[in-house]
Amino acid sequence: MRPLFRRLRGVAPLVGMVALVICPARAQVPLVKTQAPGFYRMMLGDFEITALNDGVVAYPVSTLTGATPEQITSGLAEMRLTAPVNMSYNAFLINTGTRLNLIDTGTGGTFAESPFFRGAGRLLANLRAAGYRPEQVDDILITHIGPDHVGGLTHGANRAFPHAMVRAARSEVDVYLDPAKAAAAIAAAPDKEQAKAWFQFQERLLAPYVKEGKFRNIDADGTIVPGVRSLATHGHTPGHTSFIVESKGQTMIVLGDLVHWGAVQFAYPSASTSFDSDPASATAQRQRVFQMAADGDYWVAGAHLAFPGVGHIRAGEGRYFWIPATYTIPR
Ligand SMILES: [Zn+2]
Repeated sequence: MRPLFRRLRGVAPLVGMVALVICPARAQVPLVKTQAPGFYRMMLGDFEITALNDGVVAYPVSTLTGATPEQITSGLAEMRLTAPVNMSYNAFLINTGTRLNLIDTGTGGTFAESPFFRGAGRLLANLRAAGYRPEQVDDILITHIGPDHVGGLTHGANRAFPHAMVRAARSEVDVYLDPAKAAAAIAAAPDKEQAKAWFQFQERLLAPYVKEGKFRNIDADGTIVPGVRSLATHGHTPGHTSFIVESKGQTMIVLGDLVHWGAVQFAYPSASTSFDSDPASATAQRQRVFQMAADGDYWVAGAHLAFPGVGHIRAGEGRYFWIPATYTIPR
């Protein structure tokens, strides 16, 4: 006797046609078009890491510099991407069990009219969706003064994280916190009005923390808070800083903005972006940290790698490869 599925195979199309006639399609259902909350959880030793998404913004290829058109085309094709490319804005929450550290704060919804920030500003909603509250954050570690990294520090005139100590490299923030240095920088800027507006914006973000004694400079590489070390990676900005998180023999390097265009910059690390203030230094730091992560087989977390932006870097064939994390549920 033929197996049941073979006997049914012949009549299946007929059954389908009859079903269509008897059971017409239901009323149309609207497309939902929302995504799951933007958080992703993983363990690093005893630490719980939560990647938080602030938004996704389409970036034109014109922001990529130092790469030939052929390199850009081949890099995007390798990742099945076409321009403009969706770029994630990610921050990372580290619960050590005794302290809650947040690396970067997203845009805070600032500059929402700019194409580079439209639709961003979701970090706080995603932090809450992840089971945390802003007032629980003990320390905020800033990779650099970029609007997509510090824009979320305040809510109007108030601190968005009322109990947090903000920590950032002195070489990054001095120009914003020292009135004489700020005045000199504005005077030297080609567009003084734009520079003034930018400095006033930074003042609004940092001053509420400074005033309450909730700001500390990072002066040298070393332990910033238990389990987290700073690593100067200047280039994207003058005081750009990466962070190394370690627990139970496991290590994660939080890159900051060492890489924006993963599809191109892992294959061609000498490619930079128009946002790099010193492209040569940014490139040198990118290659140094890529190699460090590959050699140590460390976890890597990138502010602009496709959410959740965590994975590993492999070196080989004269280039680097990005290996995204496999989805997991912490136990
Ligand atoms: Zn950035």
